[in-house]
Amino acid sequence: MKNILDKFASKVFCDNTMAERLDKDTYKALKKARSLAIEKHEDLEIGVANMVATALKEWAIENGATHYCHWFQPMTGITAEKHDSFLSFDKTGNAILEFSGKELVRGEPDASSFPSGGLRATFEARGYTVWDTTSYAFIKDGSLCIPTAFCSYSGEALDKKTPLLRSMQSVNKQAMRILRLFGNNSKATQVVATVGAEQEYFLIDKKILDFRPDLKYTGRTLFGAPPSKGQEMDDHYFGVLKSRVSEFMKELDEELWKLGVYSKTKHNETAPAQHEIAPIFSTTSVATDHNQLIMEMIKVVADRHGLVALLHEKPFEGINGSGKHNNWSLATDTGVNLLDPTKTPHKNMQFLLFLVAVIKAVDEYQDLLRVSSSSASNDLRLGGHEAPPAIISMFLGDELTEILNCLADGNEYEAKGRCGLDSGAMVLANFNKDTTDRNRTSPFAFTGNKFEFRMVGSSFSIAGPNIVLNSAVAKILSEFADKLENSKNFNSDLKDLIRVIYSKHKRIIFNGNNYTKEWELEAKKRGLSNHKTTVDALPAFVSKKSVDLFENQKVFNELEVNSRYEILLEAYSKTIKIEALTMLEIAKKDITSSVIEYQKLLSETIKNKIEIKIFDRSLEEYFLTNISNLSKEFLTKMLALEKIVNTANKENEPLKKATHCKDKVIPAMKTLRTVVDKLEQIVSSDYWPLPSYSKILSSV
Ligand code: ADP
Ligand code: MG
Repeated sequence: MKNILDKFASKVFCDNTMAERLDKDTYKALKKARSLAIEKHEDLEIGVANMVATALKEWAIENGATHYCHWFQPMTGITAEKHDSFLSFDKTGNAILEFSGKELVRGEPDASSFPSGGLRATFEARGYTVWDTTSYAFIKDGSLCIPTAFCSYSGEALDKKTPLLRSMQSVNKQAMRILRLFGNNSKATQVVATVGAEQEYFLIDKKILDFRPDLKYTGRTLFGAPPSKGQEMDDHYFGVLKSRVSEFMKELDEELWKLGVYSKTKHNETAPAQHEIAPIFSTTSVATDHNQLIMEMIKVVADRHGLVALLHEKPFEGINGSGKHNNWSLATDTGVNLLDPTKTPHKNMQFLLFLVAVIKAVDEYQDLLRVSSSSASNDLRLGGHEAPPAIISMFLGDELTEILNCLADGNEYEAKGRCGLDSGAMVLANFNKDTTDRNRTSPFAFTGNKFEFRMVGSSFSIAGPNIVLNSAVAKILSEFADKLENSKNFNSDLKDLIRVIYSKHKRIIFNGNNYTKEWELEAKKRGLSNHKTTVDALPAFVSKKSVDLFENQKVFNELEVNSRYEILLEAYSKTIKIEALTMLEIAKKDITSSVIEYQKLLSETIKNKIEIKIFDRSLEEYFLTNISNLSKEFLTKMLALEKIVNTANKENEPLKKATHCKDKVIPAMKTLRTVVDKLEQIVSSDYWPLPSYSKILSSV
């Protein structure tokens, strides 16, 4: 039997392959260039780049590649790639396969068609893709893909990778300052933010898409009456995998393992047809690349199985949507997790200091975390009793909360120790429980040795949330380091600092049920933000506080922040506009004709019954009257939506346009949907043009 490990890393130029294929000096030089610890920008010598390029090319060709591409992450949220073959001609005109260090290090795609938020006028088309040495090249579809960042001619970031790498640099610098204060016992040379993103998605049969233009063009259903069986029975979560799904998941795992994306967990999620995959965590930049590859491969492999994967946050109204849980921690390059409480967290001052740094960062920059999980599609999910509300709060669990409370109140903490699980059945194996339960309703939950940011949407790039997290935590760590580096009495100043910071920021901690109305009221009393929609949330991104943070941490300059703000607003308005237009098209072309046809059937039946003197026509008349009444309402709402969309088109200022979409277009879409969904419930399914929710959700 073939060992599953044979499938591992066969298509990725991973550390082992590098060590095998590069000479010692080149490998050493490359490792140095990849380190976050380098303070000043050192040019990777072209000699080294040439050696790496040659090794990459040979490895890629041996593995069936004919092309190479710079693979990057523009601000569209998806990846971009432009392929060139290795083919070239030598001086004597013979065909050769070539790949130089220069081609590895930089590319120059035409940048004018990517969103830049006004950073670059269309005539200034030059943009560079630059080799990201922290991530790994891989082979996909016969092309050697080189992870790159994407910058404008003048060095501004045009992508999600550049600021992410800058934020990793910044968190490394500040966390190392803190470690040095504690003697850096682990001899770390750098600190990286580690990330593991759990990805939720839906699977439906591909054929459905032919009859559901809404799913096809917008990723979600714009119409659809509730099914008779939704998720009320809770029988899908962790349920047995259907064989078609299981075959799909098996192939997905294998494809991902080949690419060096080590998917580990897979299961059915809460909603019918909903599933989850989670990889083994990695450094922020690699995890971000991996999540993009996961999303891409889910779609590719689904297609091979006659399926369609929906990554939208809310494909079905009334049914749980999909998120992406961004698990985040800090670790040294010597393998120490800085958010590991160890066995005696109350005595572990280094851990407590990092913990209160995260607490302060989340409290102070709650608005930015909200921005980082904002989109038109995620608005449909947040706060819907299936996902955290739009209020950021943190779950710490009983033990850590008590430790910090004791510290703040000057009380001695009495360690509880771990106790066994008492299930009542003696034959069950014995073990010690975790010290704290979990909280599934918290947007930002401590889960043992990491935080889980649960507000992120399933279709998001995880770059944004991690840029905010890294930058905010780096900022707070720098404040702590500034204070403690000058301390005359380190131990007592340290304790004071933890106490003061916790007392000041403990309003952000909430261990209860985040889905309740009471929490919303309580959060308001505590002064926590509650931006219910993307349009309400986004302005915080361009506030002075936000620009100061990003400029100080050298993650974004003001121009870059403003451009991203504009891109986010535009993406919001565009999404709503596409949805509204798709809705109108379905309403006019498909729903109208079915409603008319069915009324024709009913009226003809009534007419026939009259002719042949059958007097009981109550059934036909009942439906005909109701449908007729609803048709009138349908027409009114359809025309109203059309008018409102036209007004939105005339608005050019991004915030005003987005506000119009939120306040006018979305409500008009909602009312149109309500009428159509009522019609669906009384028009014969033989006549209804769209497959029902029940049909879609049980199509696999
Ligand atoms: P859950 O029980 O919350 O659904 P999963 O096992 O589905 O958890 O996913 C947890 C994710 O957290 C995985 O991707 C895992 O690799 C990641 N993870 C674990 N430890 C860390 C860490 N120290 N830093 C970042 N991510 C981590
Ligand atoms: Mg999970």
